[in-house]
Amino acid sequence: MNFDFIQQDVLAQKEKSRYRQLVCNSTSNQHSGAEIVVNGQSYVNFSSNDYLGLNNHREINKALQEGIDKFGLCSSSSSLVTGYHYAHQALENDICQWLNKPKCLLFSSGFAANLALFQALGKNEQSHFYLDKLSHASMIDGAYHSKATVKRFHHNNIEQLTRLLSARNNNTTHHSATVKSTAEHPDKTPKNTFNTLIASEGVFSMDGCQAKVRELAQLAKSQQSWLYLDDAHSIGVIGDKGQGSNYFANVDITMATMGKALATSGAFLTCSEDLHDYLVNFSRHYIYSTAISPAIAWATRKSVALIQKEHWRREKIAELSALFIQLLAPEIKLVVSHSAIHALIIGDEKKALHISAQLKKQGIWLTAIRPPTVAVNSSRLRVTICSHHNIKNIRYLAECINKAIA
Ligand SMILES: *Cc1c(COP(=O)(O)O)cnc(C)c1O
Repeated sequence: MNFDFIQQDVLAQKEKSRYRQLVCNSTSNQHSGAEIVVNGQSYVNFSSNDYLGLNNHREINKALQEGIDKFGLCSSSSSLVTGYHYAHQALENDICQWLNKPKCLLFSSGFAANLALFQALGKNEQSHFYLDKLSHASMIDGAYHSKATVKRFHHNNIEQLTRLLSARNNNTTHHSATVKSTAEHPDKTPKNTFNTLIASEGVFSMDGCQAKVRELAQLAKSQQSWLYLDDAHSIGVIGDKGQGSNYFANVDITMATMGKALATSGAFLTCSEDLHDYLVNFSRHYIYSTAISPAIAWATRKSVALIQKEHWRREKIAELSALFIQLLAPEIKLVVSHSAIHALIIGDEKKALHISAQLKKQGIWLTAIRPPTVAVNSSRLRVTICSHHNIKNIRYLAECINKAIA
């Protein structure tokens, strides 16, 4: 039969307890932000990425309507044709001010922005990418689908990364020496012939732990490399104004989705003037894709403004997270985190699914995360604590988890 693998692969997925199915969420804006309604049943939601509880915020909704009235819902073309509106430019400027960056570029999703960036910088094998082992699927796909030479370093292991970069330098010296002996090469000092990018996530999506941003930035500088951080889970949550990784150091390139803490949709990338110019001219994902909705861009401006001034949202995540960690039974394995994400490592897929089902019976929605999203034998419950949760929610969650696991 044609495309036999379709049925075979799905069957194999079922046998490994890795089968996935869409679940239709019927929550409406009549429900509180902490709730999820599925099949008419209401649950407290601990799997959402609405970290700052901004989804359905009255002022953001109002700004969306205003954006529709001013610019329309659809951009009606790609940015380089006629799709780039005042709303996009204004949002880019707001983001540049917030993160103190020269330039910002909008994409339709974080996944597309990652593909775009790695493909643009991975022009040929002279480009060398060094990715943290736990980098998101979209970074890995972007890197490996480019022409760059890709290396992965152990999660947050600065020593190993330093060794890898130094080895590259030794090869460079060797390489330029041979060039010199065979051809005219007037430059005496060995040149860095490679283009190097270090890439990681500000806050890791499935663990909640943070990259060592200051050390990475220092290393990048000393090794004449650029640092790229995916701030999907840091933006809004980390930093005194929710700036994410740029709070700790001046990161060369950052990307963040607007579909998590910013509670709208799309993504932005911040970079230098030169890289901005290059992407606008050469990034196929940018050039051949419809610009994001100008109304959504307009609504996101409101979200960015609220994030900078409403510190209580970040404080609440920290307080509730501390309470959760304190209430969990000591034998439960929890990844250390200062973000909104708290991973309870279970191991086996079946066990993780079983605990998730048990919690569901008690009115808690907590999706089990299984391979290939996480490594084999590290299936987990990924708890997200958001500013719309309350102390009662957290006490109940800890109580139910303790009973289900211990
Ligand atoms: C969610 C996520 C993305 C993708 O962003 P979308 O806007 O949802 O496509 C990229 N990187 C990381 C780390 C993410 O968690």
